[in-house]
Amino acid sequence: MQTPIADYLELLLESLGEDGGEVASYIPELANADPDRLAVAMATLDGEVYVAGEAADAEFTIQSISKPFTYALAIADQGLGAVLEHIDVEPSGDAFNEISLDPDTGRPRNPMINAGAIAAHALVHGDDADARVERIVDFYSRLAGRRLSIAEDVFESELSAADRNMALAYMIRSVGTLDCDPADTVRGYTRQCSVSVTVSDLARMASVLAAGGRTPDRDQVLEPAVNRQVLSVMATCGMYNSAGDWLASVGIPAKSGVAGGLMGVLPGQVGIAAFSPRLDAHGNSTRGRRIFERMNHDMGLHLMASTESAHSVSRRREVDGIAVHEIVGDLHFVEAERVLREFAAEPAGETPVVVDLDRVHRANDIARRILLEGIRRLRLDGHDVRIVDPWGVLGSAETGTGELVRGEQAHGGYVPASFPDVASAVRG
Ligand code: GLN
Repeated sequence: MQTPIADYLELLLESLGEDGGEVASYIPELANADPDRLAVAMATLDGEVYVAGEAADAEFTIQSISKPFTYALAIADQGLGAVLEHIDVEPSGDAFNEISLDPDTGRPRNPMINAGAIAAHALVHGDDADARVERIVDFYSRLAGRRLSIAEDVFESELSAADRNMALAYMIRSVGTLDCDPADTVRGYTRQCSVSVTVSDLARMASVLAAGGRTPDRDQVLEPAVNRQVLSVMATCGMYNSAGDWLASVGIPAKSGVAGGLMGVLPGQVGIAAFSPRLDAHGNSTRGRRIFERMNHDMGLHLMASTESAHSVSRRREVDGIAVHEIVGDLHFVEAERVLREFAAEPAGETPVVVDLDRVHRANDIARRILLEGIRRLRLDGHDVRIVDPWGVLGSAETGTGELVRGEQAHGGYVPASFPDVASAVRG
Protein backbone atom coordinates (compact mmCIF):
# COMPACT_ATOMS: atom_id res chain seq x y z
CA MET A 1 0.00 0.00 0.00
CA GLN A 2 1.00 3.64 -0.24
CA THR A 3 1.08 5.48 3.09
CA PRO A 4 -1.73 8.06 3.23
CA ILE A 5 0.40 10.87 4.72
CA ALA A 6 1.49 12.13 1.29
CA ASP A 7 -2.14 11.94 0.09
CA TYR A 8 -3.20 13.92 3.14
CA LEU A 9 -0.68 16.65 2.28
CA GLU A 10 -1.98 16.81 -1.32
CA LEU A 11 -5.56 17.12 -0.08
CA LEU A 12 -4.52 19.78 2.37
CA LEU A 13 -3.06 21.89 -0.45
CA GLU A 14 -6.15 21.40 -2.59
CA SER A 15 -8.40 22.59 0.21
CA LEU A 16 -6.61 25.89 0.86
CA GLY A 17 -8.82 28.06 -1.32
CA GLU A 18 -8.08 31.60 -2.42
CA ASP A 19 -4.69 33.09 -1.71
CA GLY A 20 -4.26 36.62 -0.39
CA GLY A 21 -1.49 39.13 0.26
CA GLU A 22 1.42 40.25 -1.88
CA VAL A 23 4.89 38.92 -2.71
CA ALA A 24 7.73 40.84 -1.05
CA SER A 25 8.87 43.67 -3.30
CA TYR A 26 11.47 45.53 -1.24
CA ILE A 27 13.99 42.99 -2.53
CA PRO A 28 13.68 43.60 -6.31
CA GLU A 29 14.43 39.99 -7.30
CA LEU A 30 11.71 38.62 -5.00
CA ALA A 31 9.10 40.83 -6.71
CA ASN A 32 9.60 38.64 -9.80
CA ALA A 33 8.65 35.44 -7.96
CA ASP A 34 5.70 33.42 -9.29
CA PRO A 35 3.12 34.14 -6.57
CA ASP A 36 1.14 30.94 -7.15
CA ARG A 37 3.81 28.44 -6.26
CA LEU A 38 2.83 26.06 -3.49
CA ALA A 39 4.43 23.17 -1.61
CA VAL A 40 4.47 21.53 1.80
CA ALA A 41 6.77 18.98 3.43
CA MET A 42 6.90 17.05 6.65
CA ALA A 43 10.01 15.29 7.96
CA THR A 44 10.04 12.72 10.74
CA LEU A 45 12.92 12.49 13.19
CA ASP A 46 14.15 9.25 11.66
CA GLY A 47 14.50 10.77 8.19
CA GLU A 48 11.24 10.12 6.36
CA VAL A 49 10.23 13.16 4.28
CA TYR A 50 6.72 13.55 2.87
CA VAL A 51 6.30 16.29 0.29
CA ALA A 52 3.42 17.56 -1.84
CA GLY A 53 2.60 20.43 -4.19
CA GLU A 54 3.61 21.51 -7.67
CA ALA A 55 6.56 23.44 -6.17
CA ALA A 56 7.83 20.41 -4.24
CA ASP A 57 11.24 20.68 -5.96
CA ALA A 58 11.33 24.47 -6.31
CA GLU A 59 14.22 26.31 -4.71
CA PHE A 60 13.64 29.62 -2.97
CA THR A 61 15.79 31.72 -0.67
CA ILE A 62 15.72 30.89 3.01
CA GLN A 63 15.64 34.57 4.09
CA SER A 64 14.70 34.98 7.75
CA ILE A 65 14.38 31.24 8.31
CA SER A 66 18.17 31.42 8.43
CA LYS A 67 17.98 33.39 11.68
CA PRO A 68 17.40 30.55 14.17
CA PHE A 69 20.20 28.51 12.60
CA THR A 70 22.76 31.31 12.63
CA TYR A 71 21.75 32.14 16.20
CA ALA A 72 22.43 28.48 17.05
CA LEU A 73 25.87 28.63 15.44
CA ALA A 74 26.68 31.89 17.26
CA ILE A 75 25.84 30.23 20.61
CA ALA A 76 27.86 27.13 19.69
CA ASP A 77 30.82 29.39 18.82
CA GLN A 78 30.65 31.93 21.65
CA GLY A 79 28.66 30.31 24.45
CA LEU A 80 25.18 31.39 25.48
CA GLY A 81 26.37 33.96 28.03
CA ALA A 82 28.40 35.93 25.50
CA VAL A 83 25.56 35.87 22.98
CA LEU A 84 23.05 37.07 25.57
CA GLU A 85 25.31 40.03 26.32
CA HIS A 86 24.84 41.09 22.68
CA ILE A 87 21.26 40.00 21.92
CA ASP A 88 18.26 39.81 24.24
CA VAL A 89 15.51 37.14 24.01
CA GLU A 90 12.37 39.21 24.54
CA PRO A 91 9.59 39.25 21.98
CA SER A 92 9.58 42.78 20.61
CA GLY A 93 6.10 42.96 19.12
CA ASP A 94 7.86 44.85 16.32
CA ALA A 95 7.99 44.26 12.60
CA PHE A 96 10.99 42.24 11.41
CA ASN A 97 12.94 45.24 10.14
CA GLU A 98 12.17 47.57 13.05
CA ILE A 99 15.01 49.56 14.57
CA SER A 100 14.44 47.87 17.88
CA LEU A 101 17.12 48.13 20.57
CA ASP A 102 16.67 47.99 24.32
CA PRO A 103 16.98 51.61 25.48
CA ASP A 104 18.96 50.62 28.59
CA THR A 105 21.36 48.00 27.28
CA GLY A 106 21.44 48.79 23.55
CA ARG A 107 20.92 45.10 22.78
CA PRO A 108 18.63 44.11 19.92
CA ARG A 109 15.46 42.68 21.49
CA ASN A 110 15.82 39.19 20.05
CA PRO A 111 17.68 37.28 17.31
CA MET A 112 14.61 36.72 15.10
CA ILE A 113 14.19 40.35 14.02
CA ASN A 114 16.77 41.80 11.65
CA ALA A 115 18.63 43.85 14.28
CA GLY A 116 19.29 40.75 16.40
CA ALA A 117 19.95 38.55 13.39
CA ILE A 118 22.60 40.92 12.06
CA ALA A 119 24.23 40.93 15.51
CA ALA A 120 24.03 37.10 15.62
CA HIS A 121 25.67 36.82 12.21
CA ALA A 122 28.58 38.93 13.49
CA LEU A 123 29.06 36.58 16.46
CA VAL A 124 29.74 33.53 14.26
CA HIS A 125 33.46 32.74 14.20
CA GLY A 126 35.29 33.94 11.09
CA ASP A 127 37.56 36.88 10.23
CA ASP A 128 35.19 38.41 7.71
CA ALA A 129 31.81 37.92 6.07
CA ASP A 130 33.15 35.36 3.58
CA ALA A 131 34.65 33.21 6.32
CA ARG A 132 31.48 33.40 8.40
CA VAL A 133 29.25 32.62 5.43
CA GLU A 134 31.34 29.59 4.54
CA ARG A 135 30.85 28.18 8.03
CA ILE A 136 27.18 29.10 8.00
CA VAL A 137 26.50 27.36 4.67
CA ASP A 138 28.41 24.28 5.87
CA PHE A 139 26.30 24.21 9.00
CA TYR A 140 22.97 24.62 7.19
CA SER A 141 24.05 21.88 4.77
CA ARG A 142 24.68 19.44 7.62
CA LEU A 143 21.18 20.11 8.88
CA ALA A 144 19.63 19.78 5.44
CA GLY A 145 21.55 16.59 4.64
CA ARG A 146 22.77 17.96 1.31
CA ARG A 147 25.10 20.67 0.03
CA LEU A 148 23.26 24.01 -0.12
CA SER A 149 24.35 27.01 -2.18
CA ILE A 150 23.65 30.73 -2.45
CA ALA A 151 21.25 32.27 -5.00
CA GLU A 152 23.66 34.97 -6.22
CA ASP A 153 20.98 36.93 -8.12
CA VAL A 154 18.82 37.33 -4.99
CA PHE A 155 21.90 38.22 -2.94
CA GLU A 156 23.02 40.97 -5.38
CA SER A 157 19.48 42.25 -5.58
CA GLU A 158 18.96 42.47 -1.82
CA LEU A 159 22.38 44.00 -1.21
CA SER A 160 21.63 46.73 -3.74
CA ALA A 161 18.60 47.71 -1.63
CA ALA A 162 19.91 47.00 1.88
CA ASP A 163 19.80 50.57 3.21
CA ARG A 164 17.63 49.70 6.15
CA ASN A 165 19.75 46.75 7.26
CA MET A 166 22.86 48.95 6.84
CA ALA A 167 21.20 51.52 9.07
CA LEU A 168 20.48 48.81 11.64
CA ALA A 169 24.07 47.56 11.60
CA TYR A 170 25.53 51.06 12.06
CA MET A 171 23.03 51.68 14.80
CA ILE A 172 24.03 48.51 16.68
CA ARG A 173 27.66 49.42 16.23
CA SER A 174 27.02 52.91 17.61
CA VAL A 175 25.75 51.46 20.90
CA GLY A 176 28.73 49.15 21.17
CA THR A 177 27.14 45.73 20.63
CA LEU A 178 28.54 45.04 17.15
CA ASP A 179 32.23 44.19 17.05
CA CYS A 180 32.52 43.82 13.25
CA ASP A 181 32.48 46.21 10.31
CA PRO A 182 28.78 47.08 9.71
CA ALA A 183 28.82 46.97 5.90
CA ASP A 184 30.72 43.67 5.83
CA THR A 185 28.32 42.23 8.42
CA VAL A 186 25.27 43.18 6.33
CA ARG A 187 26.93 41.64 3.29
CA GLY A 188 27.40 38.37 5.19
CA TYR A 189 23.92 38.47 6.68
CA THR A 190 22.42 39.08 3.23
CA ARG A 191 24.36 36.12 1.80
CA GLN A 192 23.09 33.95 4.65
CA CYS A 193 19.52 35.00 3.76
CA SER A 194 20.16 34.07 0.10
CA VAL A 195 20.86 30.38 0.74
CA SER A 196 18.63 28.43 -1.61
CA VAL A 197 16.40 25.66 -0.22
CA THR A 198 13.39 23.48 -1.05
CA VAL A 199 10.52 22.66 1.32
CA SER A 200 12.09 19.24 1.86
CA ASP A 201 15.36 20.87 2.93
CA LEU A 202 13.54 23.11 5.39
CA ALA A 203 11.43 20.26 6.78
CA ARG A 204 14.54 18.19 7.30
CA MET A 205 16.37 21.12 8.97
CA ALA A 206 13.32 21.58 11.20
CA SER A 207 13.30 17.87 12.05
CA VAL A 208 16.86 18.17 13.37
CA LEU A 209 15.71 20.92 15.74
CA ALA A 210 12.72 18.72 16.63
CA ALA A 211 15.12 15.88 17.45
CA GLY A 212 17.10 17.93 19.97
CA GLY A 213 19.83 18.83 17.48
CA ARG A 214 20.42 15.38 16.04
CA THR A 215 20.16 14.40 12.37
CA PRO A 216 18.49 11.14 11.29
CA ASP A 217 22.05 9.77 10.72
CA ARG A 218 22.73 10.43 14.41
CA ASP A 219 25.03 13.40 13.81
CA GLN A 220 24.64 15.62 16.91
CA VAL A 221 24.87 18.92 15.00
CA LEU A 222 23.72 21.01 17.96
CA GLU A 223 24.08 20.54 21.69
CA PRO A 224 20.64 19.87 23.19
CA ALA A 225 20.91 22.98 25.40
CA VAL A 226 21.64 25.20 22.39
CA ASN A 227 18.84 23.56 20.46
CA ARG A 228 16.43 24.25 23.31
CA GLN A 229 17.45 27.89 23.45
CA VAL A 230 16.83 28.28 19.73
CA LEU A 231 13.41 26.64 19.87
CA SER A 232 12.35 28.74 22.83
CA VAL A 233 13.25 31.94 21.02
CA MET A 234 11.54 30.71 17.86
CA ALA A 235 8.38 29.98 19.85
CA THR A 236 8.25 33.43 21.42
CA CYS A 237 9.71 35.64 18.68
CA GLY A 238 9.75 33.66 15.42
CA MET A 239 6.62 35.15 13.91
CA TYR A 240 7.51 38.79 14.73
CA ASN A 241 4.51 40.91 15.68
CA SER A 242 2.10 38.01 15.30
CA ALA A 243 4.18 35.64 17.47
CA GLY A 244 1.68 35.53 20.33
CA ASP A 245 -1.32 34.92 18.13
CA TRP A 246 0.63 32.26 16.22
CA LEU A 247 1.70 30.35 19.32
CA ALA A 248 -1.82 30.37 20.70
CA SER A 249 -3.66 29.49 17.50
CA VAL A 250 -1.14 27.26 15.68
CA GLY A 251 1.08 26.22 18.57
CA ILE A 252 4.08 25.16 16.50
CA PRO A 253 7.33 27.11 17.03
CA ALA A 254 7.98 28.55 13.60
CA LYS A 255 10.00 30.92 11.48
CA SER A 256 8.95 32.64 8.31
CA GLY A 257 10.93 34.19 5.48
CA VAL A 258 9.97 36.91 3.00
CA ALA A 259 10.51 34.60 0.00
CA GLY A 260 7.42 32.70 1.21
CA GLY A 261 9.01 29.91 3.22
CA LEU A 262 7.64 28.90 6.59
CA MET A 263 9.28 26.34 8.85
CA GLY A 264 7.77 24.77 11.98
CA VAL A 265 9.28 22.53 14.63
CA LEU A 266 7.25 20.27 16.86
CA PRO A 267 9.74 19.04 19.49
CA GLY A 268 10.02 15.28 19.66
CA GLN A 269 7.63 14.85 16.75
CA VAL A 270 8.17 16.38 13.30
CA GLY A 271 9.62 19.19 11.20
CA ILE A 272 7.25 20.94 8.81
CA ALA A 273 7.80 23.40 5.97
CA ALA A 274 5.56 25.28 3.58
CA PHE A 275 6.25 27.51 0.58
CA SER A 276 3.87 30.04 -0.93
CA PRO A 277 5.22 33.51 -1.81
CA ARG A 278 2.29 35.82 -1.06
CA LEU A 279 2.73 37.43 2.37
CA ASP A 280 0.38 38.90 4.93
CA ALA A 281 0.87 42.28 6.58
CA HIS A 282 3.37 40.75 9.03
CA GLY A 283 5.55 39.36 6.25
CA ASN A 284 4.45 35.75 6.83
CA SER A 285 3.28 33.50 3.98
CA THR A 286 -0.52 33.71 3.79
CA ARG A 287 -1.18 30.19 2.62
CA GLY A 288 1.76 28.92 4.67
CA ARG A 289 -0.06 30.15 7.73
CA ARG A 290 -3.24 28.42 6.65
CA ILE A 291 -1.37 25.16 6.03
CA PHE A 292 -0.04 25.25 9.57
CA GLU A 293 -3.44 26.07 11.03
CA ARG A 294 -4.95 23.15 9.18
CA MET A 295 -2.22 20.73 10.24
CA ASN A 296 -2.64 21.73 13.83
CA HIS A 297 -6.37 21.18 13.52
CA ASP A 298 -6.20 17.90 11.58
CA MET A 299 -3.32 16.24 13.38
CA GLY A 300 -3.41 17.70 16.87
CA LEU A 301 0.11 19.12 16.53
CA HIS A 302 -0.22 22.03 18.99
CA LEU A 303 2.86 22.29 21.19
CA MET A 304 0.83 22.74 24.33
CA ALA A 305 -1.17 19.62 23.52
CA SER A 306 1.93 17.46 23.02
CA THR A 307 2.38 16.37 26.58
CA GLU A 308 2.89 12.66 26.11
CA SER A 309 6.18 11.25 24.92
CA ALA A 310 6.36 9.39 21.65
CA HIS A 311 7.21 5.80 22.30
CA SER A 312 5.79 2.75 20.69
CA VAL A 313 7.03 -0.32 18.95
CA SER A 314 5.67 -1.96 15.89
CA ARG A 315 7.11 -5.40 15.19
CA ARG A 316 6.48 -7.71 12.24
CA ARG A 317 6.84 -11.43 12.68
CA GLU A 318 5.49 -14.48 10.87
CA VAL A 319 3.36 -17.18 12.46
CA ASP A 320 2.64 -20.21 10.23
CA GLY A 321 3.66 -18.10 7.22
CA ILE A 322 1.23 -15.31 8.13
CA ALA A 323 2.47 -11.75 8.77
CA VAL A 324 1.65 -10.53 12.29
CA HIS A 325 2.11 -6.82 13.05
CA GLU A 326 2.37 -6.50 16.80
CA ILE A 327 1.84 -2.93 17.95
CA VAL A 328 2.78 -1.86 21.47
CA GLY A 329 2.36 1.27 23.57
CA ASP A 330 0.53 4.58 23.39
CA LEU A 331 -0.39 5.67 19.89
CA HIS A 332 -0.33 9.27 18.65
CA PHE A 333 0.31 10.62 15.18
CA VAL A 334 4.03 9.83 15.21
CA GLU A 335 3.61 6.24 16.38
CA ALA A 336 0.73 5.66 13.98
CA GLU A 337 2.86 6.97 11.10
CA ARG A 338 5.48 4.35 12.00
CA VAL A 339 2.88 1.63 11.96
CA LEU A 340 1.66 2.82 8.56
CA ARG A 341 5.16 2.53 7.21
CA GLU A 342 5.32 -1.08 8.37
CA PHE A 343 2.00 -1.66 6.67
CA ALA A 344 3.27 0.07 3.52
CA ALA A 345 6.21 -2.35 3.37
CA GLU A 346 3.81 -5.32 3.21
CA PRO A 347 3.79 -6.53 -0.41
CA ALA A 348 0.32 -6.43 -2.01
CA GLY A 349 -1.38 -9.81 -2.34
CA GLU A 350 -3.99 -12.08 -0.90
CA THR A 351 -2.02 -13.36 2.09
CA PRO A 352 -3.69 -12.73 5.44
CA VAL A 353 -2.22 -9.99 7.65
CA VAL A 354 -2.80 -9.99 11.39
CA VAL A 355 -2.82 -6.63 13.21
CA ASP A 356 -2.29 -7.30 16.90
CA LEU A 357 -3.36 -4.45 19.18
CA ASP A 358 -3.40 -6.51 22.37
CA ARG A 359 -0.56 -4.47 23.88
CA VAL A 360 -1.75 -1.02 22.86
CA HIS A 361 -2.76 0.95 25.94
CA ARG A 362 -4.45 3.81 24.25
CA ALA A 363 -4.67 5.57 20.90
CA ASN A 364 -5.67 9.19 20.41
CA ASP A 365 -8.26 9.99 17.81
CA ILE A 366 -5.87 10.76 14.97
CA ALA A 367 -3.86 7.56 15.61
CA ARG A 368 -7.09 5.56 15.60
CA ARG A 369 -8.19 7.08 12.30
CA ILE A 370 -4.76 6.56 10.77
CA LEU A 371 -4.79 2.89 11.82
CA LEU A 372 -8.27 2.37 10.37
CA GLU A 373 -7.16 3.94 7.10
CA GLY A 374 -4.04 1.74 7.03
CA ILE A 375 -6.20 -1.34 7.58
CA ARG A 376 -8.56 -0.20 4.82
CA ARG A 377 -5.67 0.18 2.41
CA LEU A 378 -4.19 -3.22 3.26
CA ARG A 379 -7.61 -4.62 2.36
CA LEU A 380 -7.63 -2.67 -0.91
CA ASP A 381 -4.25 -4.30 -1.64
CA GLY A 382 -6.04 -7.64 -1.48
CA HIS A 383 -5.11 -8.73 2.05
CA ASP A 384 -7.44 -10.52 4.42
CA VAL A 385 -6.75 -8.29 7.45
CA ARG A 386 -7.46 -9.96 10.80
CA ILE A 387 -7.56 -7.68 13.79
CA VAL A 388 -6.79 -8.64 17.35
CA ASP A 389 -8.22 -5.84 19.43
CA PRO A 390 -9.39 -7.35 22.73
CA TRP A 391 -9.41 -3.95 24.47
CA GLY A 392 -11.41 -2.24 21.76
CA VAL A 393 -8.71 0.35 21.03
CA LEU A 394 -10.05 1.03 17.54
CA GLY A 395 -13.50 1.71 18.93
CA SER A 396 -12.55 3.60 22.08
CA ALA A 397 -12.85 7.26 22.87
CA GLU A 398 -11.21 9.44 25.48
CA THR A 399 -13.59 11.17 27.86
CA GLY A 400 -11.39 14.21 28.39
CA THR A 401 -10.56 13.11 31.92
CA GLY A 402 -8.02 10.62 30.63
CA GLU A 403 -10.51 7.81 31.20
CA LEU A 404 -11.17 5.45 28.30
CA VAL A 405 -14.56 4.32 27.11
CA ARG A 406 -14.37 1.21 24.98
CA GLY A 407 -16.43 -0.16 22.16
CA GLU A 408 -18.65 0.79 19.29
CA GLN A 409 -20.99 3.02 21.23
CA ALA A 410 -18.09 5.23 22.32
CA HIS A 411 -16.62 5.65 18.88
CA GLY A 412 -19.84 6.03 16.99
CA GLY A 413 -18.10 4.96 13.80
CA TYR A 414 -16.88 1.88 11.99
CA VAL A 415 -15.21 -0.64 14.32
CA PRO A 416 -13.71 -3.71 12.65
CA ALA A 417 -14.50 -7.14 14.09
CA SER A 418 -11.84 -8.47 16.41
CA PHE A 419 -10.28 -11.87 17.07
CA PRO A 420 -9.66 -12.61 20.75
CA ASP A 421 -5.98 -13.47 20.24
CA VAL A 422 -3.23 -13.95 17.65
CA ALA A 423 -3.56 -17.75 17.54
CA SER A 424 -7.22 -17.59 16.54
CA ALA A 425 -6.51 -14.79 14.07
CA VAL A 426 -3.80 -16.90 12.42
CA ARG A 427 -6.21 -19.85 12.19
CA GLY A 428 -8.73 -17.46 10.58
N1 GLN B 1 16.82 39.20 4.04
C1 GLN B 1 15.59 39.76 4.54
C2 GLN B 1 15.85 41.08 5.24
O1 GLN B 1 16.79 41.18 5.97
C3 GLN B 1 14.96 38.78 5.47
C4 GLN B 1 13.66 39.30 6.05
C5 GLN B 1 12.63 38.21 6.26
O2 GLN B 1 12.67 37.15 5.66
N2 GLN B 1 11.64 38.52 7.04
O3 GLN B 1 15.14 42.04 5.10
